[in-house]
Amino acid sequence: RKDVGRISTGSTAVDELIGGGIETQSITEVFGEFGSGKSQISHELAVTIQLPEDKGGLEGECVFIDTENTFRPERIEQISNYFELDHEETLNKIHIARAFNSSHQILMAEKVNELIQSGTNIRLIIVDSLMAHFRAEYIGRESLATRQQKLNQHLHTLQNIATTYNVAIFLTNQVQARPDAFFGSPTKAIGGHVLGHASTYRVWLKKGLAGKRIARLVDSPHLPEGECVFKITSDGVVD
Ligand code: ADP
Repeated sequence: RKDVGRISTGSTAVDELIGGGIETQSITEVFGEFGSGKSQISHELAVTIQLPEDKGGLEGECVFIDTENTFRPERIEQISNYFELDHEETLNKIHIARAFNSSHQILMAEKVNELIQSGTNIRLIIVDSLMAHFRAEYIGRESLATRQQKLNQHLHTLQNIATTYNVAIFLTNQVQARPDAFFGSPTKAIGGHVLGHASTYRVWLKKGLAGKRIARLVDSPHLPEGECVFKITSDGVVD
């Protein structure tokens, strides 16, 4: 694949774990329990995407699809201060899309095509969180097939944008802290079929001791499994 770009998570250890940062033309899914750091990494990437390449960015803008009202401009301000970026300018390059339900979420992703075609240099789409609306709306066994079909449609839209415009997709997925947390991945459920040529990175986030976090790379197509430690501080995501 040509011209794959990489975006720093803020932690060099996490970047190394996933092969040098999250990739354009790919979907990266982070999953973990409440408070494991999914939204924090989302905020971090919304800033680092704007940095020059030698600092871990792609000098690009991003779309932040916010499904649970977790986006915090104050947090962007803190992180952009750390990178000595002007926080107003930084916020202007984060295109917030609040998704009120799953249909709206699907629509918001489709609209990114228009934003890019109008000349906005979008290089990253964040969906925080991917599943919240789908889980709330499609309850019970009889609606599972419909839910998966809608979800496939959504992921397919995102994947198309990723490959067509060389954009990175970053998805968060909240799961219970159970030993079987590997299962129930929305991207894995269709991986290899709908996602086709795209690689999907899956990272499991866990809470460690003394405020530390553990990132574990699971079922990656061409990288070894492994884990590393990172921290969340007022400066953002760090080693
Ligand atoms: P989730 O996985 O549910 O999205 P978050 O990414 O929101 O979890 O992580 C929340 C955690 O991040 C908090 O419990 C706290 O430990 C840490 N955190 C959030 N903001 C800050 C901050 N400004 N300074 C230090 N730690 C923070």
